[in-house]
Amino acid sequence: MIDLHSHSNISDGLLSPSELVEHAVNNGVRVLALTDHDDLGGLTEARQAAAQHGIRLINGVEISVTWKKRTLHIVGLNVDPDNAALQAGLAAVRSGRLERARQMGLSLEKSGIHGGFEAASSYAQQSILTRMHFARFLVDRGYAKDPKAVFKKYLIKGKPGYVEHEWMSLESALDLIINSGGVAVLAHPGRYEIKRTNMLLLLEEFRALGGAAIEVVTGSHTAAQYVEYAKYAQLFGLKASQGSDYHGKGISFMGMGRLPELPSNCIPVWQDWPEIDALLAA
Ligand code: AMP
Ligand code: MN
Ligand code: MN
Ligand code: MN
Repeated sequence: MIDLHSHSNISDGLLSPSELVEHAVNNGVRVLALTDHDDLGGLTEARQAAAQHGIRLINGVEISVTWKKRTLHIVGLNVDPDNAALQAGLAAVRSGRLERARQMGLSLEKSGIHGGFEAASSYAQQSILTRMHFARFLVDRGYAKDPKAVFKKYLIKGKPGYVEHEWMSLESALDLIINSGGVAVLAHPGRYEIKRTNMLLLLEEFRALGGAAIEVVTGSHTAAQYVEYAKYAQLFGLKASQGSDYHGKGISFMGMGRLPELPSNCIPVWQDWPEIDALLAA
């Protein structure tokens, strides 16, 4: 019913913002956050579609961050899409993506895989270029059966197609989100290859910078990780969020409307969002 992480074709999803909203409605979602990577461009269309269908749209974004040489994703919920500083910060993050994609194409060329940059660009059309667009190219060329399998052999550190990139700092991402009225959520913590000591450091720093919640139930966590990250949330006094991270048919970890409930020891990130209480009570 509540899905606080999803993508449209403004970033690397397959559906347009209004198609995504329609898909969410058809799968029983009543509160949806659109959280495109580094881009607020889908929110206006999504908001109109949500109003038509009588569901609640949360203005969201998923910001790419570099922390201790690792890439992390920070979801901002209830951000103000008209906030100039947020818009400028995201534009700066996006601007590095084109050259990075060119380098990714060259890296694949070196492994004998040709035409990746051109193909990824055509999948992306006007949207930002992401590794997911390259993953779709590799699947279509038969290099792997689905994006999940692609990311084992390509596009990750040490593999063909991977290019180091410096994203936004954790501090800037949290500042931008919080100063635009939003709450900051650490996305899919179980996906980062971070040992316990560094996870503790990260959560400490995240909280100190004003971070509010971590994703506990997400499409890319296992059931054991729901329990594990619920404990981390409790330990740090952070709230818990949930979202499918839906990207589209065949390229998602999980469909929409299939999220299990948050573990009972979690405080939901929407706890003090009155409009959601009203909706849930209805
Ligand atoms: P980028 O922001 O360009 O590095 O692209 C990252 C995107 O690739 C993520 O948002 C996911 O959509 C996708 N992705 C990364 N790792 C995986 C994975 N292991 N399985 C499926 N999709 C992945
Ligand atoms: Mn993505
Ligand atoms: Mn992510
Ligand atoms: Mn995502």
